[in-house]
Parts: sequence; C-alpha cells; structure tokens
Amino acid sequence: MSKQNKYHVDEKGMYGQFGGAYIPEMLYPNIENLKAVYKDIIGSDAFQDEYKSLLKDYVGRPSPLYLAKRLSEKYQTNVYLKREDLNHTGAHKINNTVGQILIAKHMGKQRIIAETGAGQHGVATATACALMGLQCVVYMGEVDIERQAPNVARMKMLGAEVVAATSGSRTLKDATNEALRDWICNPEDTFYLIGSVVGPHPYPDMVAQLQAVISEEIKLQIAEKTNKDYPDYVIACVGGGSNAAGSFYHFLDDERVQLVAVEASGMGVDSGETAATIAKGDKGLIHGSLTFLMQSNDGQITEPYSISAGLDYPGIGPQHAHLFDTGRAQFLSATDKEALDAALQLTQLEGIIPALESSHALAALDKMSFKKDDSVVITLSGRGDKDMATYMKRFGF
Ligand SMILES: *Cc1c(COP(=O)(O)O)cnc(C)c1O
Repeated sequence: MSKQNKYHVDEKGMYGQFGGAYIPEMLYPNIENLKAVYKDIIGSDAFQDEYKSLLKDYVGRPSPLYLAKRLSEKYQTNVYLKREDLNHTGAHKINNTVGQILIAKHMGKQRIIAETGAGQHGVATATACALMGLQCVVYMGEVDIERQAPNVARMKMLGAEVVAATSGSRTLKDATNEALRDWICNPEDTFYLIGSVVGPHPYPDMVAQLQAVISEEIKLQIAEKTNKDYPDYVIACVGGGSNAAGSFYHFLDDERVQLVAVEASGMGVDSGETAATIAKGDKGLIHGSLTFLMQSNDGQITEPYSISAGLDYPGIGPQHAHLFDTGRAQFLSATDKEALDAALQLTQLEGIIPALESSHALAALDKMSFKKDDSVVITLSGRGDKDMATYMKRFGF
C-alpha cells in the first residue's frame, strides 16, 4: 500500500484497535474471496477507466466546490460547500453503489443483495443495478417499508425486488440479518452491497476508497480557488460515516487539515433519544465489526433516534472510532432542532435546500470559531427534496 497505515486499514483489517471481521464461519469464504480481490480490482486500469467514466457521465462528477458567499459573510470566514447533492439520485451514496457494482461485475457476480433502512441506499443500489442490468434484491424491515413508501416505489420502478424483514423490531438490523442469511445461502453468484463504511473488513476500506473521490476533488478544487492545496477544515455528517470517510480520505495524513465529524444527537445527547454514537456509545461488536455502538448495560444494541433517517444508526464505522480514539478527528453533535435551523438558514442564504443529514454538518458552524482567511469545506452529502414532508411539518409551510 502506498498510503501510510496510521489512519488507514492494516493488513489484518484493523484501524488501531477497531475493525476486523467478526462473522459467522459460514461467511468466511465470501469475505475471504472479496478480501483477496478488491484491491487489485479497484487498482486495475479496466476498473478505473469504467468507474471514472461513469462518475463523470452518469453521476455528473466532479461535483462543484462552491464558495457560499452569504454563509461565509455570516461566519466571517470562507465556507465552501462540496456539492454531493448535485449527484445523480441526489446524494453521495451513488459513488459507492456504482463502484461496488463494477467490482461485482469483475468478480462475475449476477445478483446483488442489499439492506436498507430509510431506503436511500436501496434506491442507490437499485439504480446501479438497473444501469448494469443485474438482478437486485433489497431487504427492508416491514416497519420501514410502511414508513418509506416513496423509496419502496422507486426501488420497484427500478426493477428491484423489495423483501420485507418480518422478525424482531422489523427495522434495519433485522433487514441486515436477512441479507446475511441470503448471502450465506448464495455465496457463488451473489454480491452483498453495503452502503456505508461499516460491516466486516474489507467493506469499510472498500467503501472509503470508493467515496475517496470526494476528497480527491476537494484537493484539486481548493488549490484552484485559494493559494493553498489544502483546506483548514473539512466538516461532514456521520451516520455510518461514508461521506465523512470520503471527504477525509486524502487529508488523513495531512495534519494541517482539521477533520470534523458531526453526529446526530436527536433530542439531545443525554435525552435517551439520540444517534450520537461517539458521544454516548462504547466499544462493542456490530455488523461484523469492532467499533463504537450504543448498547444497554447488558450489551443489547439500543434503538437510535434522529430526525434524519440517514443518521439513525446505532454504530459508526471502525475508521471513525479510530480517528476519535487517536484524536485525529474532532467529533461534534447536532440536535434535530439545530439541524432544522441550519437547513432553513442555508436555504435562505444560498438558495440550496439541503438534506436533513447534511444539515447536521452545517450546524457545526455555530459550534466552532474560525479565522477570517480559513478555508472551511463542508460536505453537502445530499439534497433536501426527500425531506420536504419533515420541513413542511416543522416549519409549518
Ligand atoms: C445515507 C446518508 C448519509 C449518512 O450516511 P454516511 O454513510 O454516514 O455518509 C448522509 N447524508 C445523506 C444525504 C444520506 O443519504
């Protein structure tokens, strides 16, 4: 590996004391097979040519780095927005699904499975499968299917089969169990497409590499716009942590860049209704990975809460746990209320309606102080169209 290993994954699949692949023995062959080939596939010219060309002509990259003048004036600094909201399907998730579909194709897989909570990853997966003509099965909790009808309809229109998980709390973790069961039963022809930097090694690293295009572009774009080839701050929201991991990737070893991750604290960090994993969680196993998660005293994973469905996850990717542990990244949190205020402010200062998830990153501006000539990059992970019902209800429009 050309990268230093201080903040990247090591050969054992660990980020410091976090990560690894804690999986049932029946999944060993699948994981070993993926581990053996993913780096070579991503590094190959054939993959890179096709991936880069799809990112350009299908996703619409590079996404702009936009100097938000009125927002900058308010905070007396230079705020740049990395516009992942302008990607096809309206968020950063498509960078990962298009990449993993190509990896699946290189591995000769015919069938793609995924799980989804709010449905955003399911839609991004179904989109990439339609693009490539691959069969797509998305597992989703029965409760989530009811709550997220528009995304279920999108997936179906894109040709995916949506399978209800009817056990347990009938939400995301039950859908994950169903997807894993499917993968165990269909190791030969099926590729399991995970939507964030979570799960057993090599998923966190593979997804981070596919989202790294975000920081690769920021580096070039900031050099064009300022007299430095690095920003002073990079700020991103974290659910599982993929948009943050991609935004940080090429700056991890450049300590001049301050990395800031913003969690969703829901009704408040100590309210019991929160998704702030770093603030409230501790070490444990989730989704095949050793990381931080929110659990009860007897080790049961607790239900997270956030107004934003994409941040409503009880764990966090192992690389982020390591960035917290080493102090390389600063972890903040924003409440529902703070995120809503930040969404309204961006909309009225810049004419951009952000996703609720991204609004948590924007809310960090009120919690930090900057110098006048700092370059502050905030990743706008997605657009707010999907959140209009919430905005209408909360703002009374
Ligand atoms: C899914 C989602 C997120 C959270 O996922 P990460 O893996 O933490 O990036 C953030 N923003 C938007 C718009 C999303 O759809």
